[in-house]
Amino acid sequence: MHSRGLYIQTENETAIDILMVTPDGKEKWIANVDSVKDLMAAIEIDYAEYRRRIMQLHNLPLFQEKLDIAMWEYEELVNSARKIPNLIEKTDPVGAFVVRRRIEMILRHPDDGSAMYLLQSGQWMIDALMEPVLTQIRLRNIFEVTFATTERKTQAERYHILRETYPQLSNYYFKVKRLPAEEGDMPFGKKIEYSINTLLELRMLELEMYFRQPKRIARCAHCWNYFLPKTKKETLYCDREWGDEKTCKQLGPIAQRRVDRHYDTALELFEAHRKRMSARHERYMQSNQKMNTEFMLGINEYFDWSEIAKQARMDYLDGKISAEEFIRRIDMYGELKGFTVQKTEQTGESILERLVKQDLTFDPARRYFDVQTLDLEESNPQWKIMTAEEWMRSEQGSRRPLAEQAEEIHPRKIDEEE
Ligand SMILES: [Zn+2]
Repeated sequence: MHSRGLYIQTENETAIDILMVTPDGKEKWIANVDSVKDLMAAIEIDYAEYRRRIMQLHNLPLFQEKLDIAMWEYEELVNSARKIPNLIEKTDPVGAFVVRRRIEMILRHPDDGSAMYLLQSGQWMIDALMEPVLTQIRLRNIFEVTFATTERKTQAERYHILRETYPQLSNYYFKVKRLPAEEGDMPFGKKIEYSINTLLELRMLELEMYFRQPKRIARCAHCWNYFLPKTKKETLYCDREWGDEKTCKQLGPIAQRRVDRHYDTALELFEAHRKRMSARHERYMQSNQKMNTEFMLGINEYFDWSEIAKQARMDYLDGKISAEEFIRRIDMYGELKGFTVQKTEQTGESILERLVKQDLTFDPARRYFDVQTLDLEESNPQWKIMTAEEWMRSEQGSRRPLAEQAEEIHPRKIDEEE
């Protein structure tokens, strides 16, 4: 018999069973969940509508500045707050459960009936509703540090970077219980049960489980989403399909070569701006202020910006928008107006030479790998394999006229924007 709360049962850490026990003692199971896939799904849950509805609560009469607060104003908030978790019931059932449990706990808190108390309690309710959103932001930051640019590093090195950046993460510990064996004469089986208090705890537990498995999380250099490479080899691109059923594996190398050949500073500008946005957001998160409207705005802006930026970056890589349009789209607050994108046409120096100059640890074996390219020159367009050697040779040879070189490496239609 379980008391109310959230529990994770597992035997081998790759598959977990999630148990949610409601305040009235009802048990709800989500069985046989892949712990790593659950972690990766958590980072992509769409909370846009959920956030918008929480934001609206700030407009309720309860939160307007005045001398007194009527009971009905508080009840109005409670009724709205209780409905909001329904919005994420399907996409994030555990998040919905955790929020509902917190709201019920707030309602059981002794009430002194004062206006101050009603206001405080209303604030707690908004804090409770925000838990899934804040957990996702923390998780995204953790992923950024641990997986975004560390594909060449070992799991131990990645874990070390994570611990260095967020030392407080090592303070997580979990209440563990060994479950009785189901048969045989041993008192305990291999199954373990963890008691979990918050959503972030659940994600930290899944992250620990991830680090004890041979699986590896990487960030796709094309679409910027996270994925699990299928082999142990360094993998730059994921298998997500975009228009015309083309995947990042097919589009990524084409985009990369286009950017290399017409090198400009747009991506560097983007990277600098992204760091600024994330530092600004980090300040919001650490300011430890109550969940007031300004705080909510900070969070919403950051989410909106991240989504727009990810899409704009991919469109730019795919040659769908110019460098100028790319910068305009990520510049939501008009902060990059003075900056211009500098272009460098390929002249004397080969791409290989420039890469080695830029990055002392550059290792050609990691850059050049067998790629698929779409050959549109033939009457019957088809994918063909370009070996790592062919690719490397083609880039070393960039002292020959560009046009000739482009003909050789790149099927002509792909460069239509020229
Ligand atoms: Zn991708």
